[in-house]
Amino acid sequence: MRSSIDPAVFGVLNRLNSQDKKCLSGLFRVYRDLDKKTAAFQKASGLGCRKGCGQCCDNPDVETSILEMMPVAIDLWQKNTAGAWLDKVESLNGRGRCVFYEPHPFSAGQGRCTIYPLRPLICRLFGFSARLSKTGKPVLVTCRVIKTDQSGQYTDALKQIEGGAKIPVMPHFSSQVAGLNLMDGARQLPINTALRLALERVGLKIRLGALYAKSKLQSRRRGRPAVPKLSGSAGRDTPEEF
Ligand code: SF4
Repeated sequence: MRSSIDPAVFGVLNRLNSQDKKCLSGLFRVYRDLDKKTAAFQKASGLGCRKGCGQCCDNPDVETSILEMMPVAIDLWQKNTAGAWLDKVESLNGRGRCVFYEPHPFSAGQGRCTIYPLRPLICRLFGFSARLSKTGKPVLVTCRVIKTDQSGQYTDALKQIEGGAKIPVMPHFSSQVAGLNLMDGARQLPINTALRLALERVGLKIRLGALYAKSKLQSRRRGRPAVPKLSGSAGRDTPEEF
């Protein structure tokens, strides 16, 4: 799995349109900012995940958006494994825990994320971020394991937040993601459904890109424009994208 930060991960994007590229760059900008703020909060509070713990992934209710599943969908298309993953998520019909969670074969509650660098926003936020109370105050959202294992640090963190310590605030980050693409970034879906839709969308875009490139080549050979010029000011020699 290549780094989520490296834009080279999106080689397939050369076949996608400029709007997609803009959205995905924006998404990784949000992730970079969040990861930096989360690391600062963890350092200041002393809170951290129990080694090897996978309990928050072992949950059938994780939701995310199609946009946030696009990076992993692109990665899977690049590796030519998208078809197998599509079969898998289609057979689940959107149900069950995230398909990318790999439970430890012998230790209950232990496991790992197999797409960690490309994981969506909720997986980056959960455990070390805050929701906003009715009065607009940040309230730490973390898991039972952290509360039990690190009860002292947890209590201190609550006091620090009460006193104004900085913590990533969930709605700030989710609204940034939604703002990148209202259709694909705002709607929350079960994670496996969001993955299926992202895989289908990327596959369709790749196919359309390839078809357009082919028709352009054929038209050039015949000495004709790929798309006939329309009359009036709305006409263009070629489509803007693909
Ligand atoms: S994407 Fe990774 S971190 Fe998120 S639920 Fe799936 S396995 Fe867990």
